[in-house]
Amino acid sequence: MNIVVCVKQVPETANVGLDRDSGYVRRGEVKGVVNLADRHALELGLALKAAAGGNLIALCMGPTGADQALRQALAVGYDEGYLVSDAALAGSDTGATATVLAAAVRKLPDVGLVITGEFSADGATAQTAPRLAEALGFPMVSSVVEATLEGNTLSATRNGDARREQVAAPTPAVLSVSLDSGKPRIPNAMGVMKAAKKPLTTWSLADLGLSPEQAGQAGSCTWVTRSYKPEKREKGETLTGSAAELAQALVDRLARKNLIEV
Ligand SMILES: Cc1cc2nc3c(=O)[nH]c(=O)nc-3n(C[C@H](O)[C@H](O)[C@H](O)COP(=O)(O)OP(=O)(O)OC[C@H]3O[C@@H](n4cnc5c(N)ncnc54)[C@H](O)[C@@H]3O)c2cc1C
Repeated sequence: MNIVVCVKQVPETANVGLDRDSGYVRRGEVKGVVNLADRHALELGLALKAAAGGNLIALCMGPTGADQALRQALAVGYDEGYLVSDAALAGSDTGATATVLAAAVRKLPDVGLVITGEFSADGATAQTAPRLAEALGFPMVSSVVEATLEGNTLSATRNGDARREQVAAPTPAVLSVSLDSGKPRIPNAMGVMKAAKKPLTTWSLADLGLSPEQAGQAGSCTWVTRSYKPEKREKGETLTGSAAELAQALVDRLARKNLIEV
């Protein structure tokens, strides 16, 4: 069985500009790193393979330089890497991203599990995993902390609302992994050397049987028009005193801001 983990390359720092005209992140400006939640997803994949066997595949959609993110996955023990890279991918929203990742998963044989991080550090919509599950017609378990595989059944512990839940689902399935899950390992020198020899394949949209209209801005129904840091709100003020004094202080301040007439 193949276990596929989706790895997004994100800017190393949040201080990355957006192109004024396109609204796209100027990714080339800063170093790309593996999204933290995806390092947790990679760790869960390794634990599942150690317990139940299988072949580990890392999958990324991104610019050609995103192969570095896949090399890191290969360095911690993944068997193969697939990069979907095509100029027509620029500006893909989560819908278009899910369409492309789903086409890549369908091109891989015997996929039993697709694992993602719960959210990315840049877009942070947490939309890709559920849209991917929808596109593949697979059940999905979100915010997973732990998981085991027995035959064709996945058992997972997930973060519910102020409690943990145990969930079971038939495979193939999609999981999104929480930052509360196992601590991601760091690649060692031997792992890095082995990674250089492991297969890393690059696919274009055409290789996936997709047209440029199905991805990028053309294939997206949302686009980022502007990104900016919200203005810092004025610090609140704590008023003290008797009820009458508090009422008067409030009236004074509202009047000073011309919000009421006294
Ligand atoms: C500032 C900003 C705001 C954005 N706002 C929106 C928006 O509101 N709506 C919208 O549709 N798009 C938005 N986008 C675009 C969106 O970032 C991309 O579509 C992206 O590929 C997926 O969304 P995400 O980053 O929110 O990922 P999430 O859905 O938060 O990521 C969850 C997981 O999906 C997997 N994943 C996501 N992207 C990839 C990838 N390229 N390759 C492999 N695995 C991946 C990873 O495992 C990741 O942990 C925004 C992008 C930016 C930079």
